[in-house]
Amino acid sequence: MTKREGLQLLKNADLLGLGMMADKMRQKLHHDKQVSFIIDRNINYTNVCINKCKFCAFYREQDDPDAYILSRRKLFAKIGETIKCGGTQILIQGGLHPDLGIDYYLDLLHSIKSRFDIHVHGFSPPEIYYMAEKAGYTLKKTIQLLQEAGLDSIPGGGAEILSDRVREQVSPKKIGSRQWLKVMEEAHKLGMKTTATMMFGSIEEPEDIIEHLDAIRRLQDRTGGFTAFIPWSFQPTNTELQGPGVRGQGSAKGKSRERKGVSPYAPTSNTRIHPATGIDYLRVLALSRVYLYNVPNVQVSWVTQGLKMAQVALRFGGNDFGSTMLEENVVAAAGVKHIVSIKDIVHAIKSSGFQPAQRDMYYNIIRKRF
Ligand code: SF4
Repeated sequence: MTKREGLQLLKNADLLGLGMMADKMRQKLHHDKQVSFIIDRNINYTNVCINKCKFCAFYREQDDPDAYILSRRKLFAKIGETIKCGGTQILIQGGLHPDLGIDYYLDLLHSIKSRFDIHVHGFSPPEIYYMAEKAGYTLKKTIQLLQEAGLDSIPGGGAEILSDRVREQVSPKKIGSRQWLKVMEEAHKLGMKTTATMMFGSIEEPEDIIEHLDAIRRLQDRTGGFTAFIPWSFQPTNTELQGPGVRGQGSAKGKSRERKGVSPYAPTSNTRIHPATGIDYLRVLALSRVYLYNVPNVQVSWVTQGLKMAQVALRFGGNDFGSTMLEENVVAAAGVKHIVSIKDIVHAIKSSGFQPAQRDMYYNIIRKRF
């Protein structure tokens, strides 16, 4: 499929027709009626971040009262709980904290791996790029050091939309699309698997979505290192992009702006957002499945869409339910909290007509009977 064909489908295709194309592709790639998921926990080691992306409700400034760096005691307790719940992985990510250097991350990894037998899926490309820059190392050396210290794979966070036109407006301080792709390419060359994500429903146009999908597809053609693609929709509450009149009502960020003498209602952006509807979500998910013929797995995002929409999404190209998210802080900071248990996920998959299967990060199935 060419970019032009992809754009045509995204803009004009009949939704059910596109969904059927995606479902056919899923069946071709995944012959069985199995839908996988992983038991893991999101651990955010710090919420301090110098990037201050306009779509982010999670970050804090260093002097904010609720700014934190997670203590080792709390970190180890969280990992212990994850293992007790049958978890096999932690997803560890955080903001770009100006006081943390590469030694902090290496020590963090060593300390986890010396205590627990757990897969560490951690540090998105913006974090890795920042570590490399601060240490004065190449990306290759930085990733190699992290790998030796115990990093197993890299999550696709921080991609948002891989179109610099959009990035310059919503996250001007964040690394550009070229750098994001470079981190992933270096990791793949070192034999590390990664995932790829896409956040849509902010200010992007359909052309930007195609730009993103095409960049992922081209890199995957060269390296084959992406295990999965995860599209999810922007959650505007408590973010700077949300616009005047709503933002900051009672939120920590709104209060913080007030303390600093900035009205929480003052417009901070002249950008216009068009939040994704359920239909937009299904359309983008289905197109992603069809366009990314070379990425084996497409995850549905129950965290942003809820379990019911995630069930529908299994017929729009999704073959994986993603993580059980024993803990999730980033989307929750934007006011979206779908509390579900492993039992709920298993039930949602079964009642959609599929067999649930617990997997690891490499999509090896480790448990089938539920
Ligand atoms: S999205 Fe990530 S990089 Fe941007 S402000 Fe939030 S934590 Fe920082």
